[in-house]
This record gives sequence, structure tokens and C-alpha cells, in this order.
Amino acid sequence: MIEKKRKIIPDEFIPEIRSRVVTIDNQDYLLQNDAMYTFYERSMGELSPFFLGIKNEKEILGCKCSKCGIVRVPPMLTHCPDCEFAPTRLVEVGQVGRMNTTPPITYFATSLFLDKAPFGRGRVILEGAATALSVMLYTTTGILVPGLIKKGTVVKVIFRDERVGQISDIYCVPASELTPEQVAKKGLLESEINWAAPKEPKFPKPTDKDMANFKQSVKEMQALAVKMSQSKRARKAIEGWKRNIAVKTKAGEFAMYIDNGDFTIEEKKLASPDFIMACEDPKTLLDGLMYKGAITDSVIMKKLWISKNLEFNTIFKLDRLARFLVMEQKEKKAK
Ligand SMILES: [Zn+2]
Repeated sequence: MIEKKRKIIPDEFIPEIRSRVVTIDNQDYLLQNDAMYTFYERSMGELSPFFLGIKNEKEILGCKCSKCGIVRVPPMLTHCPDCEFAPTRLVEVGQVGRMNTTPPITYFATSLFLDKAPFGRGRVILEGAATALSVMLYTTTGILVPGLIKKGTVVKVIFRDERVGQISDIYCVPASELTPEQVAKKGLLESEINWAAPKEPKFPKPTDKDMANFKQSVKEMQALAVKMSQSKRARKAIEGWKRNIAVKTKAGEFAMYIDNGDFTIEEKKLASPDFIMACEDPKTLLDGLMYKGAITDSVIMKKLWISKNLEFNTIFKLDRLARFLVMEQKEKKAK
């Protein structure tokens, strides 16, 4: 079997061989894509044991001052500045800790972190440590929204199954989402956590008015989907993307299909969707598709729930789909 190794520069960031013409003051100039290489190897230096501990032993190391006993994580000091530079030694700290601050959440990441968003980023004081370690934060319950992890929330360190010795090899989730055995386990792996059982929101029983609203909203969304699938521009927003999405609302369920430019909506229950969206009122989604307020905002504001964190990417694409259709319609009108 040939092992496919990941590249430092992902394929999608490597430009195509091509050129384009720009015109300045009626003069054409040819621009060509070219490359300049600046690869380098960097040493983790004295922090090597910390990163090797994460990679090989699934442990978190700190440094303990031989005089005052303070434990700092990560072990960035070989000598304690508070004790006339008394030497420190490496010690292992716990893998459960308390958030030192309420973490901000990144929803719109730069290309480097796009495959990791949305994520929280905050500082955790692990058991046995006196200083806070900066970590990425996730939830197992769907998408990370404000309020799930706050200052004081107890979190557990999770190790990615594939580790290279980087700080992104680890992240934290709320300890309350895990079993006591998982919380107690040293070196808990990502693959040992059940990510497939997020908690869907529960809605009250629908009234007749809700049922009518559901029928009407689905009808309007279907009409919109036809327009989107016919729009050259809108199709671009979901080019190369394929998702079957189950959408659950108070008054019923429907399916949304994204298939490489085609966008369709069917009043049907999907047996094994790629992910689930849930919103009490289907109008939330209808408004988003009509470009009246972003669907991403509805997720952040907790009006729309999605079952998989990384499907925020798909939500982002749906917003673009709505925006591109409106843009095309405006351009046509202008002509
Ligand atoms: Zn000291």
C-alpha cells in the first residue's frame, strides 16, 4: 500500500500554471503565475520534550521550579525567574482543567484554519499547573455556540489520533459531555469520543398555523431552489459540493440536496443525511435563502442548529448561494 503523505502546502493553495492580462492606460500587460520557495525546518528547541510528550506519550508536561515549586505549562522556562534562576524540572500535569477566561469563537477562519472552524480559543489551567495553556475548544454536541464554554468550565484534553508534535495535536471539550471514565482516562483519543450523537433541539407541538406556515415556506424555498439551480452565478457557490441535508422544524421535516451546482428541496425524510439542520420556524432558513439575513448568523444566534461542527462550511456556501442569486438578478436588471 502506498502511503499518501500530507504536504506542508496543501494542494488547494498551490496555484495553477496560468496567466492573465491587465490593462493600464490602454496598454496590455501579461501577468504570469510563478513561485518562490522558502521551505525551512524549525527546531522546537528546549520545548521539544513538551511536543514529544504530546506526540508519543499523550502527556502534557510542565516545568516545576526546584525552589518555589511553581509548575508552568507549557514548560517554557528552564530556570525560575522568581527564584534567582533556580533550575526547573519537567513534570507531568493533569489533562482536566478549568477555563481561565471565556473563549472567543472563530466562525470565519482564514484559509489556514478553514478546516478547523468553528472553534473556540481560550486558556485552560490544567490540574497541577499554575499557568494557563492556550488551547482550541470544541463541543461534541454539534456546533460551538456562545455560552457552551465559559470562564470556569471544566474541560478535558483530547488528543488527535494522528499526531505530529504540534499544539494543534490537542484540543479541549467540556468534561460534562464525556463519561466519568473518559474524563479520568489519560491520553483520551479523538476516535474514542462519540461525535455522532449530538443533542438535537426539541420543539413544542405544532399548531395548525405552524403546519400551514411550514407548507408555505417549503413551497417558497422550492421555487427559490429552482431559480438558484438555473442561475449560472449561484451554481458557482456550490460547485463541487455534495450534501444531503435533513432539515427538521417544529411542523415537519424536509430534505435539501446540494449536488455540484444543483440545489433541490423535497418534502421528505432522509434516512441517512450527511448532517441535520434544525430550526423551530422554517422561515429562518427561508429568510436566509432569500438573502434577508445570513444563515451563518442564525447558527451563531442559536436560531438554527446543525449536527456537525465542520458543516458550518456548508452553511457558509448556502449564504453565498443566496447572495450570488441576488447579485445576478441585480445585474440583469441593470442591463
Ligand atoms: Zn521558583
